[in-house]
Amino acid sequence: MHSKVLIIGAGPAGYTAGIYAARAALEPTIVTGLQPGGQLTITTDVENWPGDVTVTGPDLMNRMMSHAVATGAGMLHDSIVSVDLKQKPFLAVGDGGTLYTADAIVIATGASARWLGLESETRYRGGGVSACATCDGFFYRNRTVVVVGGGNTAAEEALYLTNFANKVLLVHRRDRLRADRTNQARLASNPKIEMIWNAEIVEIVGDGGLVTGVVIKDCLHGSLSTYDTDGVFVAIGHDPATKLFEGQLRMDEDGYILVRPGSTETSVPGVFAAGDVQDRHFRQAITSAGMGCMAALEAERWLSAHSSHGIVADNLDAEADFGLSLQV
Ligand code: FAD
Ligand code: NAP
Repeated sequence: MHSKVLIIGAGPAGYTAGIYAARAALEPTIVTGLQPGGQLTITTDVENWPGDVTVTGPDLMNRMMSHAVATGAGMLHDSIVSVDLKQKPFLAVGDGGTLYTADAIVIATGASARWLGLESETRYRGGGVSACATCDGFFYRNRTVVVVGGGNTAAEEALYLTNFANKVLLVHRRDRLRADRTNQARLASNPKIEMIWNAEIVEIVGDGGLVTGVVIKDCLHGSLSTYDTDGVFVAIGHDPATKLFEGQLRMDEDGYILVRPGSTETSVPGVFAAGDVQDRHFRQAITSAGMGCMAALEAERWLSAHSSHGIVADNLDAEADFGLSLQV
């Protein structure tokens, strides 16, 4: 199956890229993967999507899908299992062996939060367990919340939550933070934040629907203590869905695809990356959608600059020289 633009992923970034690419008459194909609609399909209320005071995640993503289809984007329920970005046109292979070729590719495969792996954590996800303070912090006005982790994400989540919560307990498994000194200083000087060092959450407790507390184990002595809380924010890192592209695109040490600053261009000309797959900082639906728009516009410009009579020239296989301007 040949497409001028193949979009891998069907979250806010992929659908938005689909809308813009279809409106540019590029007849894009969106391959949805296992989670059509992306991460927002597993949440309830979204309250920061402009234009909707509140909308459920699945509703919003259904509307984006319908919009993409209405503009003419093709939608295929398949998962890409391998790609060859060295050949022109580019090649992607689907789960069932379908071969997709494309003149340009937009990668929008997203990322997923790492979880602690507790059964109670899964049970209370959406009932007080979250991995996104920007998304859910608002619900914890004047409450006590727990944040788990010791990196910059945990520090920033904890600091953000002090805008709403009365008290933020930051639980870290060691006695030293991985977060940088600036964030460490901010945590130390914030009176709403209490550190619980050398500690691990062993269970999240609740009333069957909502979180009411956590059981924390002291890693040095093994003793258990219960703390009352209304929310648990797990901030122990994210994994971008980029295994597929290892060895073919330049990535940072955590697997995020590197793009030229201010653009969605990857190290391979003609391949663009949008959304959480290249963004460790914002990880929002609106920023992902914005990058999807950029990727489609950049793909359109790249195709019109590099194709003649609809056939993309094959002398473009040199890796893009990002020099020192790479965004890490
Ligand atoms: P994703 O939404 O992660 O979509 C990735 C897509 O890629 C999926 O369709 C998947 O099936 C597909 N894919 C992956 N691998 C393959 C493959 N090999 N082949 C084909 N397709 C593939 N943000 C907000 O702005 N507001 C909120 O209130 C909010 N709440 C959230 C609540 C939860 C529980 C979570 C987890 C996240 C929330 N976020 C929120 C964050 C937001 O969901 C993400 O920032 C956004 O979805 C990222 O969009 P994306 O398009 O980059 O990727
Ligand atoms: P990270 O730096 O890898 O930190 C993850 C933290 O979670 C670590 O403190 C780790 O503990 C802890 N952890 C991991 N698994 C755990 C588990 N199972 N149980 C309990 N704790 C666990 O991840 P991150 O904070 O998401 O940051 C990722 C990268 O993005 C980093 O390079 C970070 O600097 C960067 N980032 C930068 C900014 C910024 O510059 N403003 C903001 C956010 C993120 P240990 O310390 O014991 O390993």
